Amino acid sequence: MNILLKTGPGLLDLAAFLDRLDRAADPAVDADFRMQAFREAVRTLSGSDGDRVGRIQMIFSDPRTEPTDGPAKSRPAGRTRPEKPGERMMEYIDMHAHMASRTTDDYEQMALTGCVALTDPAFWAGFDRSSADGFDDYFHQLTEVEPKRAARVGIRHYTWLCLNPKEADNRPLARAVLEKIPKYLDRPNVLGIGEIGLLNRVTRNEVATFQDHLDLAVAHNQMILIHTPHLEGQIQEEHGSSWRPC
Ligand SMILES: [Zn+2]
Repeated sequence: MNILLKTGPGLLDLAAFLDRLDRAADPAVDADFRMQAFREAVRTLSGSDGDRVGRIQMIFSDPRTEPTDGPAKSRPAGRTRPEKPGERMMEYIDMHAHMASRTTDDYEQMALTGCVALTDPAFWAGFDRSSADGFDDYFHQLTEVEPKRAARVGIRHYTWLCLNPKEADNRPLARAVLEKIPKYLDRPNVLGIGEIGLLNRVTRNEVATFQDHLDLAVAHNQMILIHTPHLEGQIQEEHGSSWRPC
């Protein structure tokens, strides 16, 4: 049953996405081959004919068996660009993608599913960096390296710079990192300061670092991107499992 609990939030994301498509009321959505495959997969999922995994794999697969000329193009149907000229493909902008932790193959797959641009908020590296100097390398990656990786597959890469809330509790580190940020703000792909905010603990130091980021943004006339605390579990404990984030 644990897997059902884990799947719940993903289903809500999916529901919200489908609601947005409904609101857009674009007739091209229903004709989109990925939407057709998705609907067929949902029917298969909720049916009772067994072998759901195998059948859903087939729904998202390219059924052709003949080899094609040139490099392998027979990607799963959900991931190919339309093959007929003029066939419409939904394009999208990914507003929150931490590409430093993604492979070049991921960039390619994003492009193949219609991603034309993305924004990459500065984040925690998965470990605490040993000094502020490590952030020079990271900001260089976000402003120089990732835009080139993205451009190879036709995606425009934008970024937000900050010390992520995960490390914001370390005040000496925060001060040293914030001093470094201004020199990167005029790079062409920088949108502003982010993702800043508070983590679950909401300590005085986190609040102080959040305030420093806001001051920095105001001083340099920058937009900000806010990260909200991961409090769903705690709030559900206090308010019952029926509570859902808005
Ligand atoms: Zn993030």
